[in-house]
Amino acid sequence: MLYEKTLFGTIDKVQNAVERVKDAYKFSQSLRLGKLYVAFSGGKDSVALYGVVKMASEQENIPLLEYAEFHYNVTGIDPPELVHFVKSEFPFVSRDLYQKSMWQLIVQKRMPPTRLVRYCCKELKEGGGQGRFTLTGVRWAESVARAKRGAFEDIADTVKNRKILFNDNDDDRRQMEHCLPRKQYVVNPIIDWSDDDVWEFIHRENMPYCKLYNEGFKRLGCIGCPMAGKNGQETQFERYPKFRQSYVRAFQRMIDKRVADGMETQWATGEEVMDWWLNGNGDDDSDQLLLGGDA
Ligand code: SF4
Repeated sequence: MLYEKTLFGTIDKVQNAVERVKDAYKFSQSLRLGKLYVAFSGGKDSVALYGVVKMASEQENIPLLEYAEFHYNVTGIDPPELVHFVKSEFPFVSRDLYQKSMWQLIVQKRMPPTRLVRYCCKELKEGGGQGRFTLTGVRWAESVARAKRGAFEDIADTVKNRKILFNDNDDDRRQMEHCLPRKQYVVNPIIDWSDDDVWEFIHRENMPYCKLYNEGFKRLGCIGCPMAGKNGQETQFERYPKFRQSYVRAFQRMIDKRVADGMETQWATGEEVMDWWLNGNGDDDSDQLLLGGDA
C-alpha cells in the first residue's frame, strides 16, 4: 500500500520517496556535484524510480533533464525485449557501453561468474556515477532480510568489501550510502517499497513497463545470471538459446586459456563447463580454489 496507516498517522510512501530525491538534489547542489545521476536498468523498480524523480523535478519546478540524467548500463546480456523497451519508451536515457563483454570477461577471468564471484557486476553494471549523487531503484523487499542500520553508509573501496551499488538488492542496502574513497553518494529513494507498492504506483501513474512482466517474469536481468539458480538459468536459456551458445563458446575459449596458462582444468568442452555451472558448482570456497581464477 502506498499509503500506510501507523500509530503516528498515515505515511505517504510516494511523497517520502520524492522528499528523498529532493534532499539528494539539494545535497548534490550544495556540494557542486551537478544534477542527479539515475542508474536505470529498465526493470519495474527503475520505472518507479523514474516516476518519483519526475515528480520531484515537477515539485521543484525544474525541467526533468536539468534535474537528473538517466543512465542504462548496456550489458550485452540483457533480454532483447528489455533493451527494446528502454530504447523505445525512454529514448533520453544514456546507453553506457561496457569496456569488456561477458564473453571476454569469462576468458580473461578464466572462470565463469559464480554466486560467490560476481566479477561481471562490477564490469557490466557498476560503471558510472563517480563523483555524483547516484539514485538507484534498490529495495529491501527484494532481499532476504531487512537492513537494520542507519541512512548513511561508508562503502569500502576494496573489491572484497565493496557493496554492489546499482543492481544488487543486498540485505544491507539503505536509503543513502556514501562511498568516501570514490566520492560517490548512493541514494535509494524507494528502498522501503514492496513489490505491490511498485506495481500500484506504475498502474496509478499509467507508466509503461516491459512486456516480459506480462509473461510471468518477476525480475528482469542478465540472461544466465548465476544468482537466478539452476531453474532460472535453464528457463532463460530455453527462451534465449543463442545466449546459451555464446556462453558455451566463451567457456571453450576459457578452457583453452586455462590450458595455455598451465592451470588445472577438469573440463574438455564448453558444454561440460555449462553442465558444471548450471549444477551449482563454483558456489563454495573449495570450488573457488579449484577454479583458481583471478577475479
Ligand atoms: S546481474 Fe548477474 S550476470 Fe549480470 S552482471 Fe551481475 S552477477 Fe553478472
